[in-house]
Order: sequence, then structure tokens, then C-alpha cells
Amino acid sequence: MRRLLLILAAIALLLVAAVLAVNPVDALLNRASQKAHPVSPEAQALHDSLWIADFHNDALLWDRNVLEANQRGLLDLPRLLRGGFELAVFSATTRMHIDSNYYRTLPVLDILPAVAIASHWPRRAWFDPYQRALVLATKLHTAANASHGRLRVVESGQDMQMLIRAQSAGDPMIGGVVLLEGMHALDGDIARVDSLFAAGYRVFGLAHMFDNELGGSAAGWRKGGLTPFGRRVVARIDSLGGVIDLAHASRATIDDVLSITSRPVVVSHTGLTSTCPGPRNLPDETAKRIAERGGLIAIGFWKQAVCGDTRAIARAIHHAIEVVGIDHVALGSDFDGGVVIPFDAAHISILTSALLDEGLTHDEIRAVMGENERRFFMEMLPAK
Ligand SMILES: [Zn+2]
Repeated sequence: MRRLLLILAAIALLLVAAVLAVNPVDALLNRASQKAHPVSPEAQALHDSLWIADFHNDALLWDRNVLEANQRGLLDLPRLLRGGFELAVFSATTRMHIDSNYYRTLPVLDILPAVAIASHWPRRAWFDPYQRALVLATKLHTAANASHGRLRVVESGQDMQMLIRAQSAGDPMIGGVVLLEGMHALDGDIARVDSLFAAGYRVFGLAHMFDNELGGSAAGWRKGGLTPFGRRVVARIDSLGGVIDLAHASRATIDDVLSITSRPVVVSHTGLTSTCPGPRNLPDETAKRIAERGGLIAIGFWKQAVCGDTRAIARAIHHAIEVVGIDHVALGSDFDGGVVIPFDAAHISILTSALLDEGLTHDEIRAVMGENERRFFMEMLPAK
């Protein structure tokens, strides 16, 4: 009995320590590695004329209000507006194991309870990935409702049109799309796809850092293909008009998805192995197959995606354009995804400047910095 009490006390102590560590970890991981600096007048003028969109950030996960300019992290509404963004995709992470790594994650010891408690999520979401997914989608909707029209959740083609209309009329407004990073939250229940869709999710990553009941992860133990349940889920997402995200998927799962769906897919945050080798990045040949079907390759900003800093991001984007064509490359920063990035969202003009230095034309920069993603969502999002 005494031993049991001691074990319980030790677990409680560890949980308290983990909860107290969440904000320091946020500050430590989600930071800019370079000093922010102004860009040349030429680069700034081009930047100011761009429609800018990013396909992946994890700002919702942390104990911060996305409407306020935060000391910690790399992205919030004020910094998106300062950076000149028009649209951002907010990802929901609903399970993260302590051993998470890009090679072979041991799927034990979920650290999300500490994040959930530190961030004051309702108790039902402390230990349940499905409830966490609902809480995170609600967090973006609640923020949008309190934003005085500066943040608008985008769920349909009509929402996209309204967003673009308001922005053209001069209203500073950011569109927010919600993405689910890993569908382990289904827990065998395909009806939950519909519930998540109703909650606002429009982009669905099949597996995150571990294999799940749908299929394999690039960081999984077996790295297998789609299961029969995974095939049913893909078909259901397709019929609802959702977008499938192949970031983090195993090679076998990518092959299986491409063999059963003809709708365009996205890889919301990735690198290419030809500029940066690694199990998490895509071979050119796979990127080409995704692009040939109308898909988007969104290049990440962190070190393991591009093997370097701002110049390496620009180089990876340039190479991706050469491999898949100008219409199929987008930004997939992974701001606030527990990764160090050269600049924060407010200083994205540093990337515009680096793309000019890389020799890209103004039209190429326009396409990559946001217009490809805008067209993709205009075509892919369902009618209301
Ligand atoms: Zn990710």
C-alpha cells in the first residue's frame, strides 16, 4: 500500500513538473535563430504587394492567446498582420510521445496532458485526443469571434471569396484554416470524421509521429501502408470535400493514398531529400507524383527540413520549383511546431528577400508565397 502511494506521488510530482515546464519549453523551442532585420526597399516593395499564405503552424497548441502579441513563440495574429500574411493554416497536434523523433518513435508516454493542463483545456481533453481536437478547433473559432473581424475561420469556397473581397477592400484580415495532424483521434469510429469536419477541420494529416489504425508514419515503428480502415477514412474525407495532408506519412502510406484518390493532396510541411536528406523529407520523384495530380508541396522553414537557415529555405523552394513546377510549391513553415526557425511570422519579408537573392522572378515569388495556396483552397474547399 505504501509503495503504491509512493508511486502515485512520484507520478503526480512528474506531472506537476511537466506542467510547469510547458511555457519554458515553448520559449526554448519556438524561437527565431536570427536577429530580425529590415530588408532592401526593393524587396519590401515586392513583399508589400504579395498575397501571403502558410500551410502549417502549431500556435494553437501552446498556452497563449493567438490574438495577442506574445513574448513567446513565433506566430500570433498581430505578427501575422505585421508580416503581411493573408492566410494561415492552424494545425492541431493531439498526441505527442516523449521519445518523438524522425526515425522511429517509441509510442509511449504522451506529453500532451501536461500541455492540456498548463493551457487550461477542459478536463475531458486532458487524456483524450478526440476531445483535444475539438478543443483546438474551438480555440480558433473563439479567437476569430473575439478578433473584431481581423481573424476569420475559412471552411468553404465562399469563405475564401469573402476573405479575399474584404482584403481587397483594405480590411486587415487573416483567414485561418484548421488542420488535424494525425487521425489517431478517430479511435476506430469513422463517424468522427464527420464530427471533426463539422467542428471546422478541412485538412487531415493521416498519421503524425507514430503508426496508427489508419496507416504508417515516416517516424513509425513499422512504417506500413494504409489499413482497410485508413482506406475508408480517405474515401470519407474525399466525399466530404476535405484535403488530405501527407506530411509525416510513411512512403507506403503515401503510395497507397495516391493509388486510391484522384483528388489533389498537400504535403503541408516538408523538405526534399535532394536538398536535405532525412526520413521526414520527400524524394523528388514522390513530390513530382503529388504535383502531377494537382497537389502542393509546402516547404518547411526549420533545420531538418532544409538543412540550414534562410538561404537553405530559399534554395529548397527554388529546387522544388525546378522539380515539380511553379504551380505546386507553397510555404509550410511549421512556426511554433517545437522547432527553431530563422525568423518569426512578423519578419517573413526576410524570405521574400532571400528568394530574390536566389534569382526567382517576381511572378515565381508571388506564386510560392501565397497565390498557389490561395488557388488550391479556392478549388479544394467545399461549398457551404
Ligand atoms: Zn508536423
